[in-house]
Amino acid sequence: MTEILINIGYLLSAALFIFGLKGLTHPRTAVRGNLFGACGMLLAVVITLLDKSIVSFEVIIAGLIIGAIVGAVLAIKIEMTSMPELVAVFNGFGGIASVFVAGAALIESTINGATPLTQATIAVAASGLIGAVTFWGSLVAFGKLKGLIGDGAVLFSGQQIINAALAITALALSAGVVMDPTNVILYWLLVVAASALGVLLVIPVGGADMPVVVALLNSYSGLAAAATGFVLSNNVLIITGSLVGASGIILTQIMCKAMNRSLFNVLFGVLAPTGGGASADEVYTGRVKSTSPEEVALLFDAARRVAIIPGYGMAVSQAQHPVANLAAILQERGIIVEYGVHPVAGRMPGHMNVLLAEADVPYESLKDMDEINQDIDQVDVALIIGANDVVNPLARTDPTSAIAGMPIIDVDKAKTVVNIKRSLSPGFAGIPNPLFALDNSLMLFGDGKKAVLDIIAALKDS
Ligand code: NDP
Repeated sequence: MTEILINIGYLLSAALFIFGLKGLTHPRTAVRGNLFGACGMLLAVVITLLDKSIVSFEVIIAGLIIGAIVGAVLAIKIEMTSMPELVAVFNGFGGIASVFVAGAALIESTINGATPLTQATIAVAASGLIGAVTFWGSLVAFGKLKGLIGDGAVLFSGQQIINAALAITALALSAGVVMDPTNVILYWLLVVAASALGVLLVIPVGGADMPVVVALLNSYSGLAAAATGFVLSNNVLIITGSLVGASGIILTQIMCKAMNRSLFNVLFGVLAPTGGGASADEVYTGRVKSTSPEEVALLFDAARRVAIIPGYGMAVSQAQHPVANLAAILQERGIIVEYGVHPVAGRMPGHMNVLLAEADVPYESLKDMDEINQDIDQVDVALIIGANDVVNPLARTDPTSAIAGMPIIDVDKAKTVVNIKRSLSPGFAGIPNPLFALDNSLMLFGDGKKAVLDIIAALKDS
């Protein structure tokens, strides 16, 4: 295959990736977008396989077998609710692949006695630096999301100074690699320094900030891949890496906005204010009112407008189909039903949208946070299914809270609030929620799916 044909093929697959990303910007075109992306990847893989100057089939088959086994086991075992952990691990794999490919390229050039171009050595150093930060940062993010190392922030004195010293060391070693590419030891020292930096950058991030970090690490994995593209002179890797890097950073910014975190704070591991708030007992004792499915059915009978606010608990209980069914029953009775979807509800960006789309909820019924908040005081019944942090008014009222300043869905302003959850346990941020103790708030304790099915049964009986 001539180089021109290879590059035309790569260009075509890059165009498919871009059309794919464009399609993914709207639920209506997302499936088509995904297909474009998959076709682009298939084309890129086929061209790389045909371009025998780059790889040998033995190596590819070995990689395919190992990768397919690991991928299949992970995909079969993973729960939908554990997706962020999987994404974190995948980011990490991307990072470590860049580290090894760049290292191998450096070793190969040393063995061949060829002096690599400065452009290539800069790319090698960038791959090692960003790739190692991504790998270790992602492993820590995985451990925290999985609860293996506790999801709280790990802080110690002088942390920022150590981070800065490590960053300077890693940059100095990168400069060393560029100036003396024959000294492979410098490269592996750079990887060690960047690995320590990756761990230290992520351990101070706790609780509610983790999604931003996962999005940021996703962007890093793209940048590492793009740098590796320069190492291998592989155009499609440069383009796809850049696309992942850019889309990851855009997602990071969207998440920062949704969680009221500045990118600077996330990058340098400065924590949002935590602690100091009232205990669960102080917030709840003597103030929480329980309700029953029959009582909720009566509330719906008298309602003209209902807002459904889904959260992580809807995903855990897989309540999306009964929820869509309940909405349809209410609509048949002439009640206006809308869904209020918070950008970080659940455990991954778009989590609620995916579940509701699976239950065929029409896109028009989904309102984003700003839209639903506009006139939420006109809502007769706000039905909250397994959401907690994203409706916690402490975000507005307590500047010392772990979620201080995070924009929330202002359900407390609705006329009546019904909270479906199993107990008064906190959500991801680990803090009590005064919403459950408000005068206009009722608790329907139980599993999300069962509670919604019980409400449907009560509505049919009424
Ligand atoms: P939360 O984690 O705040 O709360 C979920 C609630 O669901 C819990 O209080 C729990 O209460 C309830 N629940 C769990 N299982 C069930 C069940 N089977 N039936 C009914 N209820 C159940 O979720 P939110 O969606 O409100 O907020 C998301 C949080 O996750 C935010 O803090 C966000 O920052 C964070 N996050 C978001 C990510 C994203 O990208 N979307 C990624 C990672 C974290 P109980 O145990 O009493 O039932």
